[in-house]
Amino acid sequence: MNQRILRIAIPSPLRRSFDYLLPAKMANTALEPGVRLRVPFGPRKLVGVFLEEIAETPVPVARLKPIIEILDETSLFPEDVLELLRRACSYYRHAPGDVYIAALPALLRQGQAATVRGVQHFRLTDSGQSVTADMLKRAPRQWLLLKLLGEFAEGLGSDVLNSRMENWRPIMKRLLEKQWVNESNEIVTAVAQKDVPPSPPMLNGEQQVAVTKVVEALGEYQGFLLEGVTGSGKTEVYLRIIEEVLASGRQALVLVPEIGLTPQLVQRFQQRFPVPIALLHSGLNDTERLNAWLMARDGSAPIVIGTRSAVFTPLCKPGVIIVDEEHDASYKQHDGFRYSARDLAVMRGHLVQVPVLLGSATPSMESLHNTRSVRYGLLELSKRAGAASQPSIRLLDIRSQPMDEGLSDNLLQVMRRHLQQNGQILLFLNRRGYAPVLMCHDCGWVGKCQRCDAHLTLYAGQRRMRCHHCASERPVFSECPECKSHELHPVGQGTERVEQALQRNFPDTEIARIDRDSTRRKGSMEAMLERIHEGKTRILVGTQMLAKGHHFPGVTLVAILDCDQGLFSVDFRASERMAQLITQVAGRAGRAEKSGEVLIQTHHPEHPLLQCLIQQGYQGFSKAILAERQAAELPPFSHMALLRAEAVAADAAMTFLCEARDLAQAIDVSDVDILGPVPAPMERRAGRFRAQLLLQATQRQDLQNLLSPWIQQLEGLKAGRKVRWSLDVDPYEMY
Ligand code: ADP
Ligand code: ZN
Ligand code: ZN
Repeated sequence: MNQRILRIAIPSPLRRSFDYLLPAKMANTALEPGVRLRVPFGPRKLVGVFLEEIAETPVPVARLKPIIEILDETSLFPEDVLELLRRACSYYRHAPGDVYIAALPALLRQGQAATVRGVQHFRLTDSGQSVTADMLKRAPRQWLLLKLLGEFAEGLGSDVLNSRMENWRPIMKRLLEKQWVNESNEIVTAVAQKDVPPSPPMLNGEQQVAVTKVVEALGEYQGFLLEGVTGSGKTEVYLRIIEEVLASGRQALVLVPEIGLTPQLVQRFQQRFPVPIALLHSGLNDTERLNAWLMARDGSAPIVIGTRSAVFTPLCKPGVIIVDEEHDASYKQHDGFRYSARDLAVMRGHLVQVPVLLGSATPSMESLHNTRSVRYGLLELSKRAGAASQPSIRLLDIRSQPMDEGLSDNLLQVMRRHLQQNGQILLFLNRRGYAPVLMCHDCGWVGKCQRCDAHLTLYAGQRRMRCHHCASERPVFSECPECKSHELHPVGQGTERVEQALQRNFPDTEIARIDRDSTRRKGSMEAMLERIHEGKTRILVGTQMLAKGHHFPGVTLVAILDCDQGLFSVDFRASERMAQLITQVAGRAGRAEKSGEVLIQTHHPEHPLLQCLIQQGYQGFSKAILAERQAAELPPFSHMALLRAEAVAADAAMTFLCEARDLAQAIDVSDVDILGPVPAPMERRAGRFRAQLLLQATQRQDLQNLLSPWIQQLEGLKAGRKVRWSLDVDPYEMY
């Protein structure tokens, strides 16, 4: 009898799968694609995913090794996920091992059994149920946690707690000590909240149309873009659609950006639907993640909410796929397997024949373009839901204006007015630290990172200098290394410096700074948000962490301190990102009854794109950008692939890329433009020299036709062994 040859995806950086033999003693075993196998790989034993059985292999059969064992009886993935992974491998030209293995929870990657396990579970005891708010006046967080547990008849597992409350463990410890709560290890999925959920609002006309259109498409593929201004009730539209999907016995997959999976969002879903919800995000431990994944797969979780990689979650009865904030950069993975979860969500919708709904207040140019080419249906929500009205946006010309650390006199005046009227204020600045540059007043020396072509950011509070591009840091310079002068001055402002200036200008007002540095400690973000919601904090200054998802009903003034960076960037997407950010930040103002005001400080008030955004809103702006892109033949009117290389030696990356370019030119695909190679905009980073080669084509297929033979030739290039290289298909960041 012929030996059976198995093609297997194994985690390895090589862009190919590996062939093995099925040992004689297993010769009659039926094998489904998608089961895990343990195989010898060099000196190690690895877990791989079985792809297919093949009749012939390029390797002499005598050299093939037998597999060690079969880990699953049936495939871990349904057919559609297998097909999705297959297509993702070929579209992104990435190593199958990486791709298939990335789609598995860690415990399955390690070869453990695909069965649900118990997790820590907490229930109120009798004495816990009789605790009153008064008894815990001094410990509000304990009261919050107790109340939350009380809302669920069956108590809560650690998995759900993780997504409902930050840093709950130390508080739970107190409650356990007081014997108000007991702990067990169980497979319970918290289901219904006890309280009857508040009845959902009546949909307005536009919401109703959106819901109806998607519901009519259930049971087949149709792409939709839900373009709804911030606060227009997009989430409410999702909830209504999901209601229909659940009623028909199917599942809903909801993708959210990395920081979009907030306790508020989870609470909203849990209040509306008394069903288990599988949550897949970075805050889970391995067991919790495996459980959520398995509950999605066996259908016991009718709703699955997750970040990027949740697009690969197996579903037993898929009914709809929703991608919230579809423009968000976190849907694109920036290293390793560089896929776009949004694009794969659409591909998956095709494969399983379910509608895919992409939602955003500031849709990507790609998705807008798809509505024009009638590939997606366009659903619009043009008004804010409920009582809230759209904020008015105004430019503040700061040319030759007196400034106090980035705050113009005009802005300070408006701030005083809002504070007097009891409003809250949100100031936005996308720069962390105290100052982006430290300069010597006597000789002009500036502090640079030794490993990157970048300035060191000054952190005045901690007296450190840090590079935002690599992990380098050092104490603040006490004197100029060049001329020994002590006249070292910080140039420019980061959030820390602005916070200081605010304290000086508003000494009796509570101010909070929210950025990656101030929220590094677990639970600190939550504590700050609490003080904001209670109205104690009156002025908030922060980075883009503030721009997304949060609902600040008391905020009446939003100011963007510096939007000029976005106007003059080498990256063609910079202006799109700037407009998205401005619109999203502006959307934080006047979300409730109080109407909002938005101010943008700029040195370029006449800039046509800014003018367009102010006068015609994001919709008008996106039309202008699309026209520009079309004229310049940039995406979405063309398709790109970026070959990046980096090396410690100065010329190695360029040498490799030049050889790569020659190979590409030798392949006869005349409809692909080959641009470069050129040094990356930041040439040196973390001690490596970086360069890139850009491929661009009007037709996706032309590009793919070139990539297919090319990538194999690149694998064989000698120069490639001296560099780290990677291919990025549909790159989002251009450097
Ligand atoms: P988005 O997701 O577009 O930002 P949300 O769905 O969060 O908007 O809605 C914003 C607010 O308006 C929420 O408090 C929501 O409960 C409320 N809301 C949504 N739809 C309606 C409606 N039809 N009538 C009244 N309030 C609504
Ligand atoms: Zn000097
Ligand atoms: Zn650096």
